[in-house]
Amino acid sequence: MSITKVLKQLGLNAKDLKGGDLIARSPIDGRVMAKVKSDSKASAVKKIARSAEAFSAWRAMPAPQRGELIRLFGEELRAHKEALGALVSHEVGKIVQEGLGEVQEMIDICDFAVGLSRQLYGLTVASERPGHRMMETWHPLGVVGVISAFNFPVAVWSWNTAIAIVCGNSVVWKPSDKNPLTALACQKIFEKAAKRFGNAPKGLLEVLIGGREIGEVLVDDKRVALVSATGSTRMGREVGPRVAARFGRSLLELGGNNAMIVCPSADLELAVRAITFSAVGTAGQRCTTLRRVIVHESIKDKLLPRLKKIYGNLPIGNPLNGKTLVGPLIDEASFNRMQSSLKVAEEQGGKITGGQRVKVKDCEGGFYVQPAIAEMPGQTEIVREETFAPILYVVTYKKFEDALALQNDVPQGLSSCIFTQDLREAETFLSAQGSDCGIANVNIGPSGAEIGGAFGGEKETGGGRESGSDAWRAYMRRATNTINYSDSLPLAQGIKFDV
Ligand code: NAD
Repeated sequence: MSITKVLKQLGLNAKDLKGGDLIARSPIDGRVMAKVKSDSKASAVKKIARSAEAFSAWRAMPAPQRGELIRLFGEELRAHKEALGALVSHEVGKIVQEGLGEVQEMIDICDFAVGLSRQLYGLTVASERPGHRMMETWHPLGVVGVISAFNFPVAVWSWNTAIAIVCGNSVVWKPSDKNPLTALACQKIFEKAAKRFGNAPKGLLEVLIGGREIGEVLVDDKRVALVSATGSTRMGREVGPRVAARFGRSLLELGGNNAMIVCPSADLELAVRAITFSAVGTAGQRCTTLRRVIVHESIKDKLLPRLKKIYGNLPIGNPLNGKTLVGPLIDEASFNRMQSSLKVAEEQGGKITGGQRVKVKDCEGGFYVQPAIAEMPGQTEIVREETFAPILYVVTYKKFEDALALQNDVPQGLSSCIFTQDLREAETFLSAQGSDCGIANVNIGPSGAEIGGAFGGEKETGGGRESGSDAWRAYMRRATNTINYSDSLPLAQGIKFDV
């Protein structure tokens, strides 16, 4: 679908997309798609104020009714799936299937959130005092600020928003300045749902267009109760302490350095397929991308030739072509970072296959690369860093304990997996002595999570959890209530205080 048709289908007015200061460039071929007007600090503050007003009204709406708005939003997403998926491809270069997959993820989280809107349960607690009852109540939190990264331009926002809205909050979203169009399109789709819903307050969803300085307005504003920020560890290092300094809450979803341990008993066919999808999918630009393979020394020579053969035949090209599996990097800076990491890897003893730029016909302005495999002498410094590009480092191990130690010996702690048919190895990997990541899988790659589970990671990945399971609790505040229905006033701990 052409970009003009996509924008039209999503209700974005071509007039509003001209003459702005923020250039929306497609990574497919480098062409300018639109020029969008950024927010000023003053307009950002105004939007936050509007959001705070919307919160005051929305928090009083019964939760199942809030769920109804998200049900309608899910319906609108179903109706716009093809166009929004195509816009994701145009704006961040995802292949068609992955663009659609992102929108499907949005639909899935809406379904989850609708169910959740009737299940925001609190506990009843046994009181030690006669004639007393204790309970927990979960209340809406306030304005939720969502800062998102370019590589999941719509799904991550929807994980936060669908849950935040059913929990009774308003949302102010600062998308990456690399994807203003998908953000504006999502806002339009949300507005359609809100219109059908009827009495949603104005300002329930505000979008701030701009770069880091506009994100900082959100970070520093006391009215923003929770800042849910997805992006690099560098960003989290700045955002976390600033939000904490004003006693706000933050939920950080930062960089990963995800590994697969391939054991001697592994089903190599499965492992090779899982490695390929998780290492080269989205051109290596997922937080959960497989970046390290830790393979037993006895099977390295079986695994690597198969992998290199597949790598040699990867369909790299225009992501809008249905046969392509590897699209472009987001921009030239990303390409340069990949090249400098490969150079350092070589200096640290790595043997590199691939990594060079690939010219794609009619897409000369795009930065396409041959995904790289770097056979390393050990887990050197560069292997311990996240380079946001398709570089797969391969190291070997002798003893299982060493493989586990290598898996954990990186600053990040997002996703991990093991390929084995040995029950002891699998269970040890999942145990307290095993992987230290937020996600640990057996016989399945580290990327492509389902929305039903809580998503996030430890250490420099930031510690946040969003999406499924009980991640909703981060978007609410808990009150502990004690009710005395007796005619006396006993004190806890048996304290006597007669007056
Ligand atoms: P980035 O850190 O450059 O930017 C992310 C967002 O933060 C953008 O919206 C940016 O404008 C904003 N930002 C940056 N500095 C800020 C500051 N000081 N204050 C407020 N806002 C600020 O990241 P990116 O290049 O867009 O995305 C790639 C990174 O995101 C990778 O490290 C990847 O692993 C990570 N990521 C993590 C997850 C996860 O769930 N753990 C998901 C997707 C991406």
